[in-house]
Amino acid sequence: MTTQELMALGERVIMGTYRRFPVVLARGEGSRVWDTEGKEYLDFVGGIAVCALGHCHPAVAEAVSRQVSLLCHVSNLYHIENQILYAAMLIKRSFADQVFFCNSGAEANEAAIKLARKYGNERLGGRHEIITMKGSFHGRTLATVAATGQEKFHKGFQPLPAGFRYVPFNDLDALKEAVNDKTCAVMVEPIQAEGGVNVPDGGYLAGVRALCDEQGILMILDEVQTGMGRTGTMFAHEYEGVTPHIMTLAKALGNGFPLGAMLATSDVASAFEPGSHASTFGGNPLAMAAARATLEIIAAEGFLEGVRERSSYFLEGLRELQRRLPVVKEVRGRGMLLGVELNAEGAEIIDRCREKGLLIASAGPRVLRFVPPLIVTRGEMDRALEILGEVLAAT
Ligand SMILES: *Cc1c(COP(=O)(O)O)cnc(C)c1O
Repeated sequence: MTTQELMALGERVIMGTYRRFPVVLARGEGSRVWDTEGKEYLDFVGGIAVCALGHCHPAVAEAVSRQVSLLCHVSNLYHIENQILYAAMLIKRSFADQVFFCNSGAEANEAAIKLARKYGNERLGGRHEIITMKGSFHGRTLATVAATGQEKFHKGFQPLPAGFRYVPFNDLDALKEAVNDKTCAVMVEPIQAEGGVNVPDGGYLAGVRALCDEQGILMILDEVQTGMGRTGTMFAHEYEGVTPHIMTLAKALGNGFPLGAMLATSDVASAFEPGSHASTFGGNPLAMAAARATLEIIAAEGFLEGVRERSSYFLEGLRELQRRLPVVKEVRGRGMLLGVELNAEGAEIIDRCREKGLLIASAGPRVLRFVPPLIVTRGEMDRALEILGEVLAAT
């Protein structure tokens, strides 16, 4: 089938929930992908912050191929060696005591919402409301859509599950005002990714935690996009010296193998008992093999330091474009989650970049989002900056 025929068939047989670019990607290696016509692209989307180690990392490929012919799936009716060992690895590197595994970010957040509800209902005298932020993104299931503080995601899906209130991001006073005797938790992204690469002021997350402690309620951090080294530390909250009660992870966990996780302190986790929650596929041996291999590399000595160095280099390049080109309004972000806010719409710029061989994403209509593999090289960053500079200069 030609690429044109394939895309035409896709338009017919795939539900129209995505507006897709006219490209069929066929192969990937490191920070590069190739389409069915053989055209090469520098991939600064990385499957939307998923392929942290780049496409087809040999260690992950080897772990998955070994496991695939040993044992793929057995169900959580039984203990699973890879799951136990991986959970212990995650816990060793985080504030958490226990983990629940699922298959996506939305599912991880759904699990966090259920855990906070159950904890509130049973341990906090029936408190059950969760405060989330305007401009947030927490997923596409009904409860996570309700948790997402953006009307465009609610439209057409009412009635949504009740029990969510929204306050402006990065506004502690508004949060204080909103907490009442029904509130059981505050849910927040350390950096709003989909919402525009919005980095809160220093001290904001610490303020959220202090307020939660004062009120005896839970802090939930959605680190689905920011976690696993994306922002230059294993988890984004480490910059703030703050820990939550509950944290969700997904995107980069399996370097492309679908996987989600919800982590909590033992006190909070103990609100779940056998039967409270479950997932058929969650934490299966194959997913856990991918995750173990991925985390071993991210947690290796010097890896995150390298991410921070590469981030500084890329940030400096973006700032240089900002100084030169008035179309660039602001450069922001942390680690390899970087945003360029424009004084114009970003869609055409993204198209022009793709034509020149650079894939980038957006975060809202005027923000270009860069979430390349964490292993991206200086040469690749130089090339991306060159293409971006040419495209921006021509607009
Ligand atoms: C991507 C994302 C989600 C949703 O994850 P899915 O795997 O698409 O369900 C939730 N929260 C944040 C912060 C995300 O970036």
